[in-house]
Amino acid sequence: MKYILVVGDGMADVALKALGGKTPLQTAEHPNMNLIASKGSAGLVKNVPSECNPGTEVAFLSIFGHDPRKVNTGRGPLEAAGIGVKLGADDLALRCNFVTVTGEDSGVLLDHSAGHISSDESRCLLEAVKEHYENSGSIEFYPGVSYRHLLVLRGGKYSEKIVTSPPHDFLNTPIEGLLVKASAKEGQATADMLNKMILGSKEFLANHPVNRARVKSGKNPGNMIWPWGQGRRPSIKTLQETTGLRGAAISAVDIVNGIGRYVGLDIVKVPGATGYFDTNYEGKADYALKTLEDHDFVLVHVEAPDEASHAGDAGLKVKTIEDMDRRLLGPLLKGLKEEEDYTIMVMADHVTQTSDGAHSRNPVPYAIYSTKQKKSRSRGGGEAVQFDEVFLQKSTADTVEGKDILGRFLKQGE
Ligand SMILES: [Zn+2]
Repeated sequence: MKYILVVGDGMADVALKALGGKTPLQTAEHPNMNLIASKGSAGLVKNVPSECNPGTEVAFLSIFGHDPRKVNTGRGPLEAAGIGVKLGADDLALRCNFVTVTGEDSGVLLDHSAGHISSDESRCLLEAVKEHYENSGSIEFYPGVSYRHLLVLRGGKYSEKIVTSPPHDFLNTPIEGLLVKASAKEGQATADMLNKMILGSKEFLANHPVNRARVKSGKNPGNMIWPWGQGRRPSIKTLQETTGLRGAAISAVDIVNGIGRYVGLDIVKVPGATGYFDTNYEGKADYALKTLEDHDFVLVHVEAPDEASHAGDAGLKVKTIEDMDRRLLGPLLKGLKEEEDYTIMVMADHVTQTSDGAHSRNPVPYAIYSTKQKKSRSRGGGEAVQFDEVFLQKSTADTVEGKDILGRFLKQGE
């Protein structure tokens, strides 16, 4: 049995004015998602427990069968694994964005992604950051994809007792109120040190040639660093340990690859996978099929719907869902031969509201189809199921807990 898990990041949404009161999933044409739901089973799954932050890391820990309340130590260490940076038990890791700030003094946070700055430009800016801050021996910066980088504070002298602000949740907000705060006395020195770096970075980044060129061509500059999502190394059981399956992950984003590494998946890089709407959908399908030749399980993650939501672009989000359906799921289903047993699940990780860019804890759609299921108990006429929040809300009696969805997925293939 081969297992394929396809996740559209932040694909679930709310009714949007821009779409005449419909959600992007209701608006988009996605015949392949509907086919999986109609031939198999579908419903809603709550990947984010009520007491957790509705981030990708929390949702994915649930999807892999873990309780994020127990295993999640923060986003930074998961990103570190995604980039391939080893952490000691004492080290503190933080995700570090380049963001765009405008206005006088510390300014207002305009863009969490510095205009989706290219990796080349972003690495150039990170070199300047390294030059300024990496002199103490315990502070290290590592480049990731586009605006996403990593900050590692080595050794036991830094405290995780701090509160940081995920920048995508605080657009158009004055920086002043978003700076790092101590959550306990021992966090104060670490908070002060980080704030000094954040505010100091504006001074040398604003006039960096890369940023001057970006401003000149009408693009948002990466004129401030923004560390957040701090944490120490977690301890997480692998997929092989919990299910016996040998798996791989295909994703353009470090956070998903990082969780993939923690759960023991091989990381498969696809050329042209960007984490944005211009990603290589066909390439992902192609590589997923190849990966299944020597793996039992493959995760295919598409970041584009989430980014379209954060850009506030409902039309673009609809397009990313349609592209995912036609250009990724289409060739994937075609390539999976019916005579070879497989089970496929398509789902969102969390809701991202295009109306305001916020993530929410609300349940999200999932659909599972297995060749096994068809052979053992056919659903007769195969009633037409729409793969969207509204249809599934009306038609499903119960919502699955996130940490139980992997079990449900694997059971369909038995
Ligand atoms: Zn996500």
